[in-house]
Amino acid sequence: GKYTTIEHVKEAAQKENVRFLRLMFTDILGRLKNVEVPISQIDKVLDNKMMFDGSSIEGFVRIEESDMYLYPDVSTFIIFPWESEKGKVARLICDVYNPEGQPFDGDPRGNLKRVLKEMTDLGFTGFNIGPEPEFFLFKLDENGRPTDQLNDNGGYFDFAPTDLGENCRRDIVLELESLGFEVEASHHECAPGQHEIDFKYANAIEACDNIQTFELVVRTIARKHGLHATFMPKPLYGIAGSGMHINMSLFNEEGNVFYDENGVDGLSETAYHFLGGLLKHARGYTAICNPIVNSYKRLVPGYEAPVYVAWSGKNRSPLVRVPSSRGMSTRLELRSVDPTANPYLAMAVLLQAGLDGIKNQITPPAAVDRNIYVMTEEEREAAEITDLPSTLHNAIKAMRKDEMVKEALGSHIYNNFVEAKKMEWSAFRQQVSEWEREQYLEMY
Ligand code: GLN
Ligand code: MG
Ligand code: MG
Ligand code: MG
Repeated sequence: GKYTTIEHVKEAAQKENVRFLRLMFTDILGRLKNVEVPISQIDKVLDNKMMFDGSSIEGFVRIEESDMYLYPDVSTFIIFPWESEKGKVARLICDVYNPEGQPFDGDPRGNLKRVLKEMTDLGFTGFNIGPEPEFFLFKLDENGRPTDQLNDNGGYFDFAPTDLGENCRRDIVLELESLGFEVEASHHECAPGQHEIDFKYANAIEACDNIQTFELVVRTIARKHGLHATFMPKPLYGIAGSGMHINMSLFNEEGNVFYDENGVDGLSETAYHFLGGLLKHARGYTAICNPIVNSYKRLVPGYEAPVYVAWSGKNRSPLVRVPSSRGMSTRLELRSVDPTANPYLAMAVLLQAGLDGIKNQITPPAAVDRNIYVMTEEEREAAEITDLPSTLHNAIKAMRKDEMVKEALGSHIYNNFVEAKKMEWSAFRQQVSEWEREQYLEMY
């Protein structure tokens, strides 16, 4: 079960011979950071007295205001199952506070809590997230460095012996379970060397914590199998990339507000408005859900990744799909997100987009149940289907035109994010690629 009090955590740490505490938080660019302290510091840690230098974390603070405090969330206490002769290691996920005792507005987890508060002010009790992360397994060379060789030639739902990732994937699942995850399914994905592991939905904060923990576990266990796991969205040209579909549902005291047995297709007005918001702001939040240069190599036709802003209950290619289950599991599935997104920022913009739809009663355009990829440009225009930004540069431009995104991130995170991404784009656009030399060197 979950830990609810400081006393619980202390008791368990003592009983299980925990020797080190790993305090974790996520920076603006989505990277998991941690500070490790010996167990002797547990009182200080649980009393919110652990300080760190925020200026050493990218996008956090300027040098002159660099002291930050970690406030651990006791419900995230996990004792890692591996034991060394020195004892066990446990982790706590933390919120970041400034020295005045206020939540630091550059903390993505704290920012998501702020947006969730807006949700509860509107009368809802929960935003549930079910992620479907995909990843590739690559072989290592003799020096332990990742190669560009995939570890198998399997395909969708293949079995061993083609699926050489099976043992590794199974170990990942076992490890996740021992950490308290409820894994719902794991399978080989379409591309060779590609896998997916789906775990049970949870409230937004817990789901984001889970995503961060999941990526750490996948990388660690893959290493033990002599493999490199990557969440890079499009590691290889010509085969599918890795997404992280996000299933969303909204709850109030009575249950899932997206469900209405008398509504059109069993969906409530609220569900349609939330969907309207998701579609209206899709171009604006793409930079957050697809934050790296490489993300846009995945969002191209032909690989089951979305390219156009449209929704459907039948089709699997659009940006938003409504899976067929109804009742408590009525949900909207956003298919553009990839696993390099900072989950806390992604859930903040998606929730804010949906709430905007609800507050302003935004009606979504009609569902597109035909294959958008075979429609002509004129047909798409007539159906009011726009496309997602095609590059990180275009995504940042679209983001800056959407006030909702700024509202969802707060100005500190927003400004730091835009700054970092402009630099990333600028570095990329100066590169000259192999493809260009192949195309042009002899031609001109
Ligand atoms: N890999 C595909 C993507 O890039 C998704 C495949 C699937 O789960 N249907 O989103
Ligand atoms: Mg899936
Ligand atoms: Mg998949
Ligand atoms: Mg899916």
